[in-house]
Amino acid sequence: MNVLVLNAGSSSLKFQIIATDLDRIKQSQDQRLCKGEVERVGGEAIITFQAGEGAKRKFTASVRDVASTLDYLVRYIASDQSDVTEIKSTADIQAIGHRVVHGGELFSESALIDDKVLQGIEDCIDLAPLHNPGNIQGIVAARQLFGKATPQVAVFDTAFHHSIPDRAYLYAIPYHLYRRHRMRRYGFHGTSHRYVAFRYRALRGLTREQTNIITFHLGNGCSATAIKGGQSVDTSMGMTPLEGLVMGTRSGDLDPAIVNLIAAKEGLSPSEVESLLNTQSGLLGISGLTNDMRDLLAELKEHDDRRVRLAVEVFCYRARKYIGAYLACMGGADAVVFTGGIGENSPEIRARICEGMQWAGLEIDAARNEQTMGKEGLISSENSKLLAYAIPTNEELLIARDTVRVILGVPHPS
Ligand code: ADP
Repeated sequence: MNVLVLNAGSSSLKFQIIATDLDRIKQSQDQRLCKGEVERVGGEAIITFQAGEGAKRKFTASVRDVASTLDYLVRYIASDQSDVTEIKSTADIQAIGHRVVHGGELFSESALIDDKVLQGIEDCIDLAPLHNPGNIQGIVAARQLFGKATPQVAVFDTAFHHSIPDRAYLYAIPYHLYRRHRMRRYGFHGTSHRYVAFRYRALRGLTREQTNIITFHLGNGCSATAIKGGQSVDTSMGMTPLEGLVMGTRSGDLDPAIVNLIAAKEGLSPSEVESLLNTQSGLLGISGLTNDMRDLLAELKEHDDRRVRLAVEVFCYRARKYIGAYLACMGGADAVVFTGGIGENSPEIRARICEGMQWAGLEIDAARNEQTMGKEGLISSENSKLLAYAIPTNEELLIARDTVRVILGVPHPS
């Protein structure tokens, strides 16, 4: 089955086509036929495209909206120009899997999209006004292009965290705010945390029930999850992706009273403050330079700038604090797993986060850590009781696999 995986945002569209089925899943023989991204949908869009393991190409196209972008893309992929020999028309794409950001309390697992599910995703717009509308546009555009007979599946960023108990998801605010407006922790990056937990237990030959780990997704957005018995029992992002760890441009945890103070002192409206916390804070806010961790580490080596140093220190300190918190919440864990652009590629940040954790039995092996970049591997020392791993995430693969399993009515194993 060729599955088109779509991640539709307000002005961007990320896509992959993955050939997979139950046999291929069992043998880990799924094959990515192409992948890419369309940025600046609505104007002169920039398209990045890669067929198989071929060279990346970049070109532009004038596309109005998500529907015309998808139409353009599928035509391109089906043409000889694309070098994707497996796809010659829309009929060669048998299913579509969508990344959907917010499934609220409605969706605890991936769902076959019908009118009721689409309505459910619309009902969650209030919870993710910046994300769900783009996802819905992607679903509607795919329906138009492929017709209702082509099955579409929604894979939710929040679904993996459905198992979090009420003591961890409730905020200590008047309970009626939860009842009336569903204000609570939902958590995000669920597909990524779930995927690396699945890879961890495959690497160690464990069952899901034996999986007791703390996972860190450190990309532009960052989150940590406590996974006990294979289930998410707590996570750092909250009602929105703003809570928790320090991120590229987001503040993460802070005193809520600061929102009013910033508004009063800087003459900003509440939504302008929220935007400042989402787009001008985190690594960018502290360093005053960039949200890009690679650039910050390079700058640190060259100039040892004080604010750059602080940005990196605050980032690592906050992450370490979550290891301590989750060890306490879970009654201990077997491993810490790093993923995302930073978690997969930066031995330096992984080492800094785990610094001084010997008391908890966590000791990074310098050589293993340095050698494990962009690939799976153990990075803790022989003596370390709490293991550490780096595991590249692959959300698109999990979305494609869930799509197959949901269509065939097979329960998902992870
Ligand atoms: P997104 O969350 O948008 O998917 P990524 O997971 O690609 O983002 O992560 C982007 C982050 O990863 C950036 O801060 C980038 O600098 C960082 N990164 C990528 N490679 C490295 C590296 N070798 N060293 C340090 N940081 C890196």
